[in-house]
Amino acid sequence: MTPRLVRSVAEFRAACSDLRSGGARLGLVPTMGALHHGHQSLMRLAAAEAEHVVVTIFVNPTQFGPGEDYERYPRTLDSDLEICAAADVAVVFAPERAEIYPPGECTRVTLRGLTDTLCGPARPGHFDGVATVVTKLLCATGPCAAVFGRKDYQQLQVIKRLVTDLLLPVHVVEHPTVRDADGLATSSRNRYLSAAERALALAVPRALHGVGASFARGERDIAALQAQLASALDRPGLALDYAAIADSRDLSLLSSGTVEPGAAGAFIAVRIGKTRLIDNLIFGADPLPEVSDPS
Ligand code: AMP
Repeated sequence: MTPRLVRSVAEFRAACSDLRSGGARLGLVPTMGALHHGHQSLMRLAAAEAEHVVVTIFVNPTQFGPGEDYERYPRTLDSDLEICAAADVAVVFAPERAEIYPPGECTRVTLRGLTDTLCGPARPGHFDGVATVVTKLLCATGPCAAVFGRKDYQQLQVIKRLVTDLLLPVHVVEHPTVRDADGLATSSRNRYLSAAERALALAVPRALHGVGASFARGERDIAALQAQLASALDRPGLALDYAAIADSRDLSLLSSGTVEPGAAGAFIAVRIGKTRLIDNLIFGADPLPEVSDPS
């Protein structure tokens, strides 16, 4: 099925209402495009939750900081539409910037606490941009099941919180992290990596495998897990934004004490050349990344 491509909020709102008529449920997958098989898997989960699936494709300027990759972020609408067609997506909403940020706009959605750690300090303003655009997209869609990936774990917690706090008629559905065969989490940004950089990037899933395996063998000491994580990522060419153990609910950083299954995770952000990659693993909840050469 070729999805209907809509460009305006008014058309998108009307299309979503039409799809919901007769009581059908709507599944929403918000994306920034450059779709990959991780996104396809989110679409399949949305189809399992609802009768109709809609996808949004919008490279949101307000979540990029100065000097980040907004301008060069891959924009591949034609192949994105093919991927959506293969996943039986009913409607693709790909708005221009002024549809989402009308002239004179001056409203932002800001969360306290949850954004104080991890990517919050590393990317000032990023989560205000994310929370604002996701709120707008959810308001334009109306009642739906919205699917988000656990790869962006902090973003997922932000979205769950804002849906609750703003009383939005949305059921948030979590999708596990999708990985390539070598263990690297799929990402639109992976296409920036040279072969050598990609080989270096495998240190990330290997580090998560390492600490996850230690936890599975009974290691519960946060300082020991933290030290193991840091040492697995100590490689030339790999610049750490952070490699932290944090609480899985409020994302506060943990440096001592013990961890219980599901209560904490390992969170990584690295820069390799000009590419920034993030990944995470919640101890006792997420499967270990399958890696060819575990560290
Ligand atoms: P993006 O287009 O990168 O903004 O991602 C759109 C949605 O897909 C977000 O909910 C992401 O968390 C999710 N996503 C992207 N990559 C992955 C992945 N490898 N595994 C699971 N979810 C993902």
